[in-house]
Amino acid sequence: MSDARPLFDKVALIGIGLIGSSIAHGIRRANLAGHVAGCAHTPEILQRAKNVGFADSLHADAADAVRDADLVILAAPVGAFAEIAQEIGPALKQGAILTDVGSVKSAVLRDVGPHVPNGVHFIPAHPIAGTEQSGPEAGFAELFDGRWCLLTPPENTDAAALEKLKTFWARLGSKVEVMDAAHHDLVLAITSHVPHLIAYNIVGTADDLATVTQSEVIKFSAGGFRDFTRIAASDPTMWRDVFLNNKDAVLEVLGRFSEDLSALQRAIRWGDGDALFNLFTRTRDIRRSIIDAGQDSAAPNFGRDPSHKS
Ligand code: NAP
Repeated sequence: MSDARPLFDKVALIGIGLIGSSIAHGIRRANLAGHVAGCAHTPEILQRAKNVGFADSLHADAADAVRDADLVILAAPVGAFAEIAQEIGPALKQGAILTDVGSVKSAVLRDVGPHVPNGVHFIPAHPIAGTEQSGPEAGFAELFDGRWCLLTPPENTDAAALEKLKTFWARLGSKVEVMDAAHHDLVLAITSHVPHLIAYNIVGTADDLATVTQSEVIKFSAGGFRDFTRIAASDPTMWRDVFLNNKDAVLEVLGRFSEDLSALQRAIRWGDGDALFNLFTRTRDIRRSIIDAGQDSAAPNFGRDPSHKS
């Protein structure tokens, strides 16, 4: 996967948590940059990143980090993008590519777009890869292997810059697809954002149940609930920002979800076993298609240690 000549002389990562540090590791694995600059705004995170050692230089100031960079990647929570873009705008190099990894795309175009100087190529991106871990120690080079990275270039994006960013993600191990930002937001609302909201909600409900003590919830936690707790352990800041910045698509999908949930409620109340059985059969087929598409493991319990039985 490595190449003799780096694709970029300098890459700057604004945000060096799970995604930023994984990109830095991936850049090293595939020799994609001569220099990797990392930026976080707290001294503690900078120190922790220094201990892991995935960056050639570390900066508390985002404008310092992006100076002379050919590729700048915003990898902080989406709610911080407008402020970061305002800070770095004047320091961006002519001809540089500015991209991001945010989980929503229309809001990124809205918040970052106005701060991008002429002569800088702004191409939003979203790697569909992650874990429930966060912070600079959480990253690993293999995170993007075989995963999709969706690019949402604005109209009139420079073709050469787009090709270069596609090559970058392909060399990080991803499969790349280009789509419209609004379409991205709707697809992600159903495949990622609303499922996370459901997980946060069910774990919160279990925690609130007065008749079941918290220790029982933990002691008897079966596979279904445990899988929800894994998702509901995802970073609170990142997910707060996702919901605040993909409001329309999330509310649209939630409306559909609530209607379907009411139909299930009715089926249970009226003993309509056929309706339940038909839905559960349909959803099992979807799980099979995801495994066939190589997007998950067919191993029992997601391939986790069999000693941790539910
Ligand atoms: P993370 O592990 O919590 O890391 C966030 C990083 O951003 C930290 O280094 C944080 O350090 C830094 N940061 C926060 N505010 C900043 C600011 N104003 N200026 C500079 N740095 C700042 O989060 P993550 O999971 O890597 O997520 C980062 C982005 O990737 C988010 O936009 C998210 O939507 C997207 N994403 C996440 C996943 C996932 O599964 N986690 C998947 C795909 C995309 P300081 O607090 O010290 O500044």
